[in-house]
Amino acid sequence: MTVEPAAYPDMMIALRHSFDSGLTRSLAWRLGQLDALERLLKENEPAIGRALVADLAKPEQEILLGELSLLYSEIRHARRHLKRWARPRRVFTPVVGQPGRSWVQPEPLGVVLIMGAWNYPVQLVLSPLIPALAAGNCAVIKPSEIAASTADLMADLIPRYLDTTAVKVVLGAVDETTALLKQRFDHVFYTGGAAVGRIVMRAAAEHLTPVTLELGGKSPAVIDAGADLESAARRLVWGKCLNAGQTCIAPDYILVSPEQREPLVEAMRSQLDAMYGKDRLASADYAKIINRRHFDRLRGYLDSGKVAIGGRVDESAERIEPTILIDVKPDDPVMQEEIFGPILPVLTVPGLDEALAFINQRDKPLASYFFTRSKASERRFVEQVSTGNLCINDVLMFMSVPELPFGGVGMSGMGQYHGKAGFDRLSHLKAVMKRSRFPEIPVRFAPYSDFKMKLLKWLG
Ligand code: NAD
Repeated sequence: MTVEPAAYPDMMIALRHSFDSGLTRSLAWRLGQLDALERLLKENEPAIGRALVADLAKPEQEILLGELSLLYSEIRHARRHLKRWARPRRVFTPVVGQPGRSWVQPEPLGVVLIMGAWNYPVQLVLSPLIPALAAGNCAVIKPSEIAASTADLMADLIPRYLDTTAVKVVLGAVDETTALLKQRFDHVFYTGGAAVGRIVMRAAAEHLTPVTLELGGKSPAVIDAGADLESAARRLVWGKCLNAGQTCIAPDYILVSPEQREPLVEAMRSQLDAMYGKDRLASADYAKIINRRHFDRLRGYLDSGKVAIGGRVDESAERIEPTILIDVKPDDPVMQEEIFGPILPVLTVPGLDEALAFINQRDKPLASYFFTRSKASERRFVEQVSTGNLCINDVLMFMSVPELPFGGVGMSGMGQYHGKAGFDRLSHLKAVMKRSRFPEIPVRFAPYSDFKMKLLKWLG
């Protein structure tokens, strides 16, 4: 069940009507919707699994890890903390405001548009929906048309579980999204590439609607001198092969010293053998590339540098073997854009100084990874790399911590969500001050005088 473009204006009127009725404001409604969302997932795990297999050949365990577990944990976390998040937050009132009280009162924004990307097509629409509902908003969900089976399933399931007067699903591609973006929303929450991010932000600017842009970019992984190569190799291979590299926070390239390159590549070879066997293209634990366009784009990268491991492709199944590239130069095609596939270039740099300079000369990444045993190096990396998220000695795992805000910086996005950060992002934090009617120190009122001036200065 979806809404056609001609009906978008009526859909918006109906959603505004629901919002204005106050329906979504009560905590009971919000908690009820979170429960319903959990039920939607629990009761339809097999159907969700089938849709994700049809779109991406996602292995069952990756569906649990990369889609369902994150959602269950976000729902549980929101349910547990919602009352506290939604409460007025008392703040200090200085002397000039006395006697009086001041507080921040979270309130819902109104109607939020959520646009998802195709790579985690369940998680990327429902994960922003959790804070949207928790904060008491109405929502329009626009799944990515590229993961078509999952989009259809979302359009079928959501109206069966959630309040249809407050949550709508719109299906479609560029034409439908263009028409949808002409509507006035109170927030647009977009996940996807930067090119469309600009289109979304331009459209939102027409209505001065705030946006959250969850974009991508080239997320570096740096190996420090003396790092545990065995552990780094295992975690990097896992993070890169998950969803066949089609993960916004997958390690995009590795920076390592010339002496460590060979042992690291060999350690990754052993890990690939251990995880996916010798015939990795045929592994049931390894996803496919979403479509032919992306398959061709990725195949083009195999000409950069030299293939150290992998490099085979299966055109009919749209699969690309996990591939490690060496002797890659910074101006090679594979280093110009986010790879977003199972290809991992390993570049050499003399040391940490050069690695930091390499990262800082480029767009700010969505995620950065640093493998080290040194506290001093760790401190330098944390202080000197501006990045959306950062993980020391692992990849991706910050996603499992609901209290860590998630989002990009600079070209990798704007605005953060997950946990309370998501609730705050999709709320308006209304500033309220209440003054007592008396006593009144009439220092701020005219007629002004030297005495009042002195007193004001003294009060600060
Ligand atoms: P996509 O093609 O699915 O597009 C995202 C959304 O934009 C979809 O809903 C799509 O319908 C819409 N869209 C596409 N073209 C449009 C147009 N011309 N006008 C209006 N809307 C349009 O996804 P994608 O861009 O291929 O996604 C991949 C990118 O997303 C990567 O860069 C990845 O790093 C990033 N990503 C980021 C996150 C994150 O959480 N930060 C998560 C996943 C993916």
